[in-house]
Amino acid sequence: MDLMVHIYRYVIINLSNIFNVFSDPPISNQSRRHFGAARRNYHEPHEHFDLGPMNAICPYCGALHWMEEKLSDSSKSPPHFGMCCDDGKVQLPLLRAPARELQDLLQGEDAQCREFREKIRQYNMALAFTSLGANVDLTVNDPRHHGRSGWVFQIQGQLYHRSGALTAPDGTPPRYAQLYFYDLHVALQQRMHRNSNLREDTMCTLQRLIT
Ligand SMILES: [Zn+2]
Repeated sequence: MDLMVHIYRYVIINLSNIFNVFSDPPISNQSRRHFGAARRNYHEPHEHFDLGPMNAICPYCGALHWMEEKLSDSSKSPPHFGMCCDDGKVQLPLLRAPARELQDLLQGEDAQCREFREKIRQYNMALAFTSLGANVDLTVNDPRHHGRSGWVFQIQGQLYHRSGALTAPDGTPPRYAQLYFYDLHVALQQRMHRNSNLREDTMCTLQRLIT
């Protein structure tokens, strides 16, 4: 559970990583040919290579490894590993616990908490400073052409932040970072207007936490 809390907390707190995805027109057929290998449907191979269980534990940080990953000069009991904490040389302090209200939302079992966790990415985006700019190719997820498989986020070119002026142009409602220059009540109204399926009480709590 600690790891999940840290992940959720990172997603919520690190506003620079909270984006919207803007889709642009699909990439050209010529470009598509260059990425043909990434678009092939997955087929189970006839032969399997079994690495065995990933149950070797680093005695210093507790990371799980395959035994074959141990350092070449390490015995098997206890095994020593370099790729996690460099055999105990690196020790990172634990992240601080999130604010009480956020921890409640992350761990609570009532309807509000469950809704928050189900729509946590949308809450993130509603509170972001910037949006994501990328040439996103959505055709790779089209089951008519590529069969059913896991969702793929495929882009061409560079990822970049989309940030506008700090004040909204006349006649345009404020959004993203612009909302942080408004009274909380106005910002809440705007965020709920753009995300009417979210809960206002949760949005209000999150706003209070980060402003
Ligand atoms: Zn380790």
